Amino acid sequence: MSARIVLLLPEVLGTYGDAGNAAVLAARLRWRGIDAHVHTVGWDDAVPEGGDVYVLGGGEDAAQMLAVERLRGSAGLRRALDRGAPTLAVCAGLQILGRAFTVADGTWVPGLGMLDVETTPGRGARRIGDVTADPLLDGLDELLVGFENHGGVTTLGADAAPLARVRGAGAGNGTGDRIEGAVGGRGGSIVGTYFHGPVLARNPALADLLLTRALGTLPPLEVPEGLPSSTARRLGARFRGLNAAVRRRAGA
Ligand code: GLN
Repeated sequence: MSARIVLLLPEVLGTYGDAGNAAVLAARLRWRGIDAHVHTVGWDDAVPEGGDVYVLGGGEDAAQMLAVERLRGSAGLRRALDRGAPTLAVCAGLQILGRAFTVADGTWVPGLGMLDVETTPGRGARRIGDVTADPLLDGLDELLVGFENHGGVTTLGADAAPLARVRGAGAGNGTGDRIEGAVGGRGGSIVGTYFHGPVLARNPALADLLLTRALGTLPPLEVPEGLPSSTARRLGARFRGLNAAVRRRAGA
């Protein structure tokens, strides 16, 4: 049995390197000795309904309009989201899963209706830059960091909860209330964010939260001494081998 991370349409939702989120999820399982692979759903492929975690990335307005039409009729995706499969949706991915979005040229597009959010074009310049945000999601304690780049402004409906509150500079959802991201769907299984990075490489605690939701409690990754904890978590179990090699070379 191999855990399956389903990466959706990276040809059109891959502009910002968000495919890296799927790689991070699979790597963090493998580092724990759990077999895992990334199932990439290309343009002509059916979406499997039995994946463990689903990942959507960001893209330009035109690309996300293609993506939403491609996914609209997908029974596999609908079944997966209806059963509450843990899902990460970044930027355009977040907008696509919502009720509707309007792109910069004014075109209104119905979304997949899985997440109670709606997106409209924001005024003024695109929201671009590094952001930090305090998480508001149960099970997540560490400051979230990411890089936002979006024109759309996303408003949460009653059935969606904020993911985080922006600290300092940064727009988050762009509604002026410092809210970042959205959590919703069955049992809050969909986590939407404006953070690229890829976000899971920069926020391993969020990666582990999604994995735990999918697979239950996971063995901890060894956190080495003397390294920034974020670096240590990114390296995970590989640190042990590296650490031993470095010590051998130093004659320690
Ligand atoms: N095209 C969308 C926007 O500009 C999403 C951008 C993105 O995915 N980074 O709001």
